[in-house]
Amino acid sequence: MGYSVTVDTDKCVGCGECVDVCPVAVYEIKDGKSEPANSEECLGCESCIEVCEASAIVVEEN
Ligand code: SF4
Ligand code: SF4
Repeated sequence: MGYSVTVDTDKCVGCGECVDVCPVAVYEIKDGKSEPANSEECLGCESCIEVCEASAIVVEEN
């Protein structure tokens, strides 16, 4: 069981808060937007959702 992580690139402002808060380094900033490059590592803690002021992140249990 795992989690799928998606970032709405239309909403993302590239602030990097999700990169800083994620304990397992799911996110990378690419071309000024956050990309969940390592979503298979996600623990489902939802810290990224809490810090994302753009409400760009969705984390779903698989
Ligand atoms: S916290 Fe939200 S707005 Fe900021 S880089 Fe991450 S997804 Fe984008
Ligand atoms: S839910 Fe937690 S582990 Fe998963 S991407 Fe967000 S901060 Fe990282």
